[in-house]
Amino acid sequence: MRLRNIPGAKDELKQYPTIVVQDPSQYKGSWNKLFNNDNPIHVEVGTGKGQFLVGMSELHPDVNFIGIEKYDSVLLRALEQVKELDRPNLKFLNEDVEDILNFFQKGEIERLFINFTDPWPKNRHEKRRLTYKGFLEMYEQVLVDGGEIHFKTDNQGLFEYSLESFAGYGMTLHNVSLDLHRSGIKGNVMTEYERKFSSKGMRIYRCESKFRS
Ligand code: SAM
Repeated sequence: MRLRNIPGAKDELKQYPTIVVQDPSQYKGSWNKLFNNDNPIHVEVGTGKGQFLVGMSELHPDVNFIGIEKYDSVLLRALEQVKELDRPNLKFLNEDVEDILNFFQKGEIERLFINFTDPWPKNRHEKRRLTYKGFLEMYEQVLVDGGEIHFKTDNQGLFEYSLESFAGYGMTLHNVSLDLHRSGIKGNVMTEYERKFSSKGMRIYRCESKFRS
């Protein structure tokens, strides 16, 4: 992702702690108290400018959504949208997914979304891919037993790698689509990257993978 650094972005994010949660480790084990309900929590890792979760949180008001994005200048774009909305079921963390175990305890997350994550095509960068087994180990530690990862990408190589990674970890694969937009799927909310790539005629790959319960 090409990044434009926006001076003061971090300070601006801090002005809206009800949307961009500060020091999220303090809510480990008590996110439902913060949301003030017992609804399930769904997390998007590498959320970017937040379009997907803005759409999902409107469509599913009975689910709590949290987006994790490490770049403050990118997350600022999400904040700009969300602060104009009344969206109590949507929050963001300006954090690195590598630290996810500091923020959630086992069973706190019901579903995880990984959308159009950076493919890191070089073999020596495999460990940086958000579907690498090291990340799966972490996701398993915060998801409910039998929790699911819903994954979308435009990148065939990353998709094939990720299917192998999920299966190699002992996860089961469901609803695998090699051309999502021609699959007749209902209720698909497009991400920023999905919109961009599909408008160029590129196909979108999607799958759901499920941890053992
Ligand atoms: N999910 C969005 C979409 O589909 O439009 C954004 C896709 S963009 C290619 C990937 C995003 O993931 C970037 O904004 C990047 O900063 C973020 N990202 C990558 N690695 C991350 C990590 N380890 N922790 C948090 N965010 C990360």
